[in-house]
Amino acid sequence: MLGNFCNSLPVLSRLRISKKTGIFANGASGFHLASLISYLSDHVALLTSGKADFNEEQFEKLKKHYIEIIETSIKEIEHKKGNIEKIIFSDGTEKKIDTPYASLPFTQHSDIPISLGCELTELGHLKVNQFQETNISGIFACGDNTNMLRSVANAVYSGNLTGAVVNGKLVEEEF
Ligand SMILES: Cc1cc2nc3c(=O)[nH]c(=O)nc-3n(C[C@H](O)[C@H](O)[C@H](O)COP(=O)(O)OP(=O)(O)OC[C@H]3O[C@@H](n4cnc5c(N)ncnc54)[C@H](O)[C@@H]3O)c2cc1C
Repeated sequence: MLGNFCNSLPVLSRLRISKKTGIFANGASGFHLASLISYLSDHVALLTSGKADFNEEQFEKLKKHYIEIIETSIKEIEHKKGNIEKIIFSDGTEKKIDTPYASLPFTQHSDIPISLGCELTELGHLKVNQFQETNISGIFACGDNTNMLRSVANAVYSGNLTGAVVNGKLVEEEF
C-alpha cells in the first residue's frame, strides 16, 4: 500500500517521467528537495539564484545524480495560462522547464490561534504538547498547522488523539 506521496517515491521511481524539472531552492532544503525529485525525473535542475550553498559531499551527490546547478539569478518566468514554459535568466540565457518546485516557508492560514496567544515553533507550526494542547490551556491544535509532516494519515492521527483528549477533559470536568 502506498502510505503517502513522499513514502511512495522509491516506488514512483519506476514510473520516472522525463519532465524538465526546476527546483527553486538552495542549501539544505534545495539538496533535500533535489534528492526526492531525482526519483521522479531524469532532468532536474537546481536554480539557486546565487552562489550554490552545498558542501563537497552534497556537490558530489548532485553530480552523481546528474542534477544541474544553475546559479544565475532569475529575471523572468514565462508561462502560458499558468503552465510554466521557461525561465529567463539575468544574463539573457533561457531554460525550458515543465515542472517547478519551490521550498516555501510555512505560514498559518488563520491568525486566530496567534491572536489568542498560542506560541509557534521556529518553523511556524503551532506549538503543542504530546496531547496536542497548545501553551494556552484549553486550546488544542492538530493536523498540518502543528506538524511539518503534512499528510492525511498524520492529520487523522493527531485529530483522533485531540478528540480523545478533549473528550476526556470535558468528562473529567462534568463527572
Ligand atoms: C496538492 C496537495 C497534495 C497532497 N497530497 C497528499 C497525498 O497524496 N497524501 C497525503 O496523505 N496528503 C497529501 N496532502 C496533504 C494533506 O492534504 C494534508 O496533510 C491534510 O489535508 C491536512 O489536513 P488538516 O485537517 O490538518 O488541514 P486542511 O485539510 O487544510 O483543513 C483545514 C480546514 O480549515 C479551514 N479553515 C482554515 N482557516 C479557517 C477559519 N479561520 N475558519 C474556518 N475554517 C478555516 C480550511 O478551509 C480547511 O478546510 C496534499 C496536500 C496538497 C496541498
